[in-house]
Amino acid sequence: MPEPTDDCIFCRIIRGELPCHRLYEDNHVLSFLDIGPISHGHCLIIPKAHVERFDQLDATASGACLAVVPRLSAAVMSATGALSWNLLQNNGAEAGQVVPHVHFHIIPNVDGRRLRFEWTPGQLDADAGKDLAAKITHTLNQT
Ligand SMILES: [Zn+2]
Repeated sequence: MPEPTDDCIFCRIIRGELPCHRLYEDNHVLSFLDIGPISHGHCLIIPKAHVERFDQLDATASGACLAVVPRLSAAVMSATGALSWNLLQNNGAEAGQVVPHVHFHIIPNVDGRRLRFEWTPGQLDADAGKDLAAKITHTLNQT
């Protein structure tokens, strides 16, 4: 498991060097309120291992992060009165990742404050889809 780094803000929170409002913690995961919340109850789930992107995380740490989501999101909904919420996870600066340490956002929809995003669907060409699926499954089966 990669060790926490000295300059990573999330690793500093894990070590207790920076304060946070802790919500959940186990051997692999820490969850706390986001200090720049989009909505009331916006919180984060992070692995304790310092890994930049989710695709670099091992199965134990990634599973531990996702295992927290149902219970924590239900607790956030109950505490805030939200009736809907988003799970957001960005990988890489171009994807909107600001802190280069894997993190999941739980963003409840509270009083009209919620995650807003632009989603402009295209259309999958059947032949291109077949080729792409073959390429992805080939790579997937090699790992
Ligand atoms: Zn870190």
